[in-house]
Parts: sequence; structure tokens; C-alpha cells
Amino acid sequence: MSVAENIRLITGTLPPQVVLVAVSKTKPVELLQQAYDAGQRDFGENYVQELCAKYEALPRDIRWHFIGHLQTNKVKYIAPFVHLIHGVDGLKLLKEIDRQAARHQRVIQCLLQIHIATEETKFGLSYDECEQMLGDPQFTSLRHVKVIGLMGMASNTGDQSQVRQEFASLKKFFDRVSGNVLELSVLSCGMSQDYRIAIEQGSTMVRIGSTIFGERNYEHP
Ligand SMILES: *Cc1c(COP(=O)(O)O)cnc(C)c1O
Repeated sequence: MSVAENIRLITGTLPPQVVLVAVSKTKPVELLQQAYDAGQRDFGENYVQELCAKYEALPRDIRWHFIGHLQTNKVKYIAPFVHLIHGVDGLKLLKEIDRQAARHQRVIQCLLQIHIATEETKFGLSYDECEQMLGDPQFTSLRHVKVIGLMGMASNTGDQSQVRQEFASLKKFFDRVSGNVLELSVLSCGMSQDYRIAIEQGSTMVRIGSTIFGERNYEHP
């Protein structure tokens, strides 16, 4: 099946409030262009250099999402154009995003990444760390970043009830923060293998790669 058909199949099943981010890491610009021609405007990338190259090569009305682990020293490369940074997991990184956004007279939208999986290897804040950060005066004084939501990745497991539970606990935390501390509108969770469960648990943004573009057959350096 073609990229355009895959996009149409997925968007046809998404509830209207859910945004599809097409995750295009490692895929050539020709495939992104096919998705664009099918009407897709939100794209997610994991690597700074690759994102910048694709930004240069593709139409300007694409909304670029950075969904990987962002190193502080690389923020400056994406600050001029990035639409939403999903993986913010600390104050140090957020302060650098604020500094670079100010240089470009922008306010950059960010999501705080919460560690909800059981695997040790995935990045993100614990619920406690997140709450602590939200209450930190250094956080509340930032003027060029806007935290508009949370992002999470469930465990990579076939156990659907575990995945469901992880998304449910993230949603519960999201609602608690949203009602008390900070107005939040975006809950980014769900990938190819678990996005239906994520939506059922309240996701408003799904990040889907292989179901659109096919399996990635090499790991990025
Ligand atoms: C690669 C990636 C995705 C997409 O994964 P698929 O399984 O290909 O849909 C989503 N989110 C993040 C953070 C990723 O790194």
C-alpha cells in the first residue's frame, strides 16, 4: 500500500480531536512529499541534523515536531522553525529552549516527557519530578517556552492491559495537572502498535511511523 493510502486509512479512523504526527525518521524526502501531497502537515523527526535537512527540502507549511531526545547543545539548530518539542525532560533543557526561542523572538511550544514504561532505557521525568519542576520558580519565569502538554511512551510489550494501565495513569496525571497547575491541551501518546489503546485512554496526539512509511530497516547512527 502507498503512503497516501496508509495516511487516509489512519486519519479515517481517528476521532476529530486527535492529531496525527507522521513519524518520518530515516525515511527519504520523497516519501514525506507523498504524505504531504495526501494532505499530511504534521511530521515527527528524532534527529536534529536529519530534521534540518528535511526542513530545507520540503514545503514551508509543514509543522515539524521534534520527538527524539534533544541535547542542549543542539537546540539552536531547530529553534528557528520547530513547531513542537515533545521530549523535554528537565529544566536545563527547557531553559536552553527558552534562550534560543528568545533569540528568534519566538515562543516555542513544548511537551514534558513522562517516563511511564517499565524499561529503564526510555527517557523522561517521573510524576514527582514533573510536579517539582512545574512548581519551580525558574520554570514559571520562562517567557519564551510554552508547555502545552505531556508526552509518554508505553512499555514495548504485547501485554495490552499493561500498556492500557500506563496510558491511563498518564491521563490521570495530565488531568490533575491540567486542573490545578497549568492549562494543558496536548497529550501525546500512542505509536503504530499501541495508538488505538492510547486514544481510548485519552490521547490527543498520536505519533505513527512504520504503519505509514513501512518498517525502518536500519538504525540511525
Ligand atoms: C520512532 C518513534 C515513533 C514511531 O514509532 P512507530 O512504531 O514506527 O509508529 C513514535 N514516537 C517516538 C518517540 C519515536 O521515536
